[in-house]
Amino acid sequence: MNKKIVIIGGGYGGTETLRQLILRKVENIEIELITNKKYFENIIGCAEIISEKIKVEELSYDLKNASRQWDFELTVGNVESIDLNRKKLKVNGKEKTYDVLVVVVGVKPNFFNVIGANLALPAHTLSDFINIHEKLIQLDLENPNIVVVGAGFVGLEIVAELLDFFKIKNRNGKVTVVDKMNSIMPMYNNDLARKIAHEYFISRGTNFLLGKGVKEIEKERCILEDGSTVEADITIWAAGVQSPEITSKIIGANLYKGYIEVDERLLIKGSADSFAIGDAAFIKINGTIAQKMAAEALEEAKTVAKNIGLIAYGHKPSFTHVIQYTTDFPKAILSIGEDKAILIGSEIPSYLEAAPNILHRLIYMPGIDRIIDAFSKVISGPKYASMGTMEYLLKKKIVTEEIMGRLP
Ligand SMILES: Cc1cc2nc3c(=O)[nH]c(=O)nc-3n(C[C@H](O)[C@H](O)[C@H](O)COP(=O)(O)OP(=O)(O)OC[C@H]3O[C@@H](n4cnc5c(N)ncnc54)[C@H](O)[C@@H]3O)c2cc1C
Repeated sequence: MNKKIVIIGGGYGGTETLRQLILRKVENIEIELITNKKYFENIIGCAEIISEKIKVEELSYDLKNASRQWDFELTVGNVESIDLNRKKLKVNGKEKTYDVLVVVVGVKPNFFNVIGANLALPAHTLSDFINIHEKLIQLDLENPNIVVVGAGFVGLEIVAELLDFFKIKNRNGKVTVVDKMNSIMPMYNNDLARKIAHEYFISRGTNFLLGKGVKEIEKERCILEDGSTVEADITIWAAGVQSPEITSKIIGANLYKGYIEVDERLLIKGSADSFAIGDAAFIKINGTIAQKMAAEALEEAKTVAKNIGLIAYGHKPSFTHVIQYTTDFPKAILSIGEDKAILIGSEIPSYLEAAPNILHRLIYMPGIDRIIDAFSKVISGPKYASMGTMEYLLKKKIVTEEIMGRLP
């Protein structure tokens, strides 16, 4: 009898698990994807919707099409609860059973109980970015003030596109970034990258208010914790994420700060056939913690597909995941606007020594040798950050070709 594989979540990790099962031609299984959105949203490119550099259609993919081409059952609905002991879940009020489960439900914005947070525009989904763009277009002011709450990776990519939006439209707009932490990109342990990004955004006229949290949001201003205020015709919220409701409704799972704890095979701790990956999972292997990134979710999906392959042939899942994007060695490409990006690398552990070869195999483009050379330097030790157009083109290629090109 075929094993019934249920994947919850049609984002990066969910679609990649599907793809890996198809690529690996795993037999003896039937797959159902349950997700609450009809479309895969390529969120990592969404900030550019603000500056009109990319179209919404380029960043979304109809999962019905994937279901036809890859031959899996698609259910669009919200999973309300999961019982790992009974191998049952509830979706749209109906109970379903499964043999193997993969939970890949992402995260949701965290407003930290800030008063008036409903007046801020979240920046988490494709429709959030469409909304931000619409609000900017509707803004009929000579010198609008935009406040971005959160100076992390997402906040800065939004600032970049806001600055480009005003430049392209030949309008004056003032962008202020507020963050409770004293530094930009507090989660990115790379001082050089922070310095380059900070200086660059300041040179473009961005105002940074660091070390000050937002206490309250009003219609035309934000009130900070020290009582000072900052004018805000639009406030954009990019200040943090939290686990989605569903994680607290999984019977049989342990949670760490709301996120699902998994073992080194990415099995939910204590379970023999239910996996959790991506942003919703707390993945700590040999003392190293996985970064909540699309790039890491794609890698985790490969490990899960390999383990499902073993289960399908009656074996125990035994593949151990190797975290590729760790919190202590951040690697990312930050878009900073004006067709530039910062490649952020840090001292990379020895298991990544094959990185230049992997890059060579994955990416063919003129000038890539410089980036590969940069990666080699990273591996040899010093913390690395480089800024330029090539870095931006690399990111663009990953967003538009590598990520979207995975889908049938
Ligand atoms: C603006 C922005 C820029 C980013 N840039 C980068 C970047 O440059 N590089 C990078 O690596 N990462 C980036 N990230 C982070 C990246 O988007 C996440 O790490 C990634 O989306 C995690 O993948 P996932 O599969 O775990 O979750 P998601 O991709 O969020 O997918 C989760 C899916 O589950 C669905 N779902 C949730 N709850 C339920 C439920 N109860 N029932 C059914 N379905 C449900 C959701 O609708 C969604 O479709 C960025 C994030 C943002 C917001």
